[in-house]
Amino acid sequence: MASLPPVACTNHPARDAIGLCVRCRARVCSECSTKVDGINHCVGCLAAQASGPRSPSVDNGAGVRPRAAAAESLSAAVSIAALGVLVWVLIEGAFP
Ligand SMILES: [Zn+2]
Ligand SMILES: [Zn+2]
Repeated sequence: MASLPPVACTNHPARDAIGLCVRCRARVCSECSTKVDGINHCVGCLAAQASGPRSPSVDNGAGVRPRAAAAESLSAAVSIAALGVLVWVLIEGAFP
């Protein structure tokens, strides 16, 4: 009995673990685990999930989109200005 360590929480050796984190397989007690869709997640994996994979994709999207939008609006403004000049020339030519 003494040879086998008790199945204790990774963060709380005095507490009994109630489950395993699905991501890092860490033993978690009721205090350390958070059930997401009925699945145990440890505190560390929840933090990593909240801050890890999301921010790079958001940063990439935010970094790329405004430049593309700015380039599009700039070309659109140039073409509209050219069209306006063309219309103005036609009107000036039609009414001397
Ligand atoms: Zn985990
Ligand atoms: Zn714990």
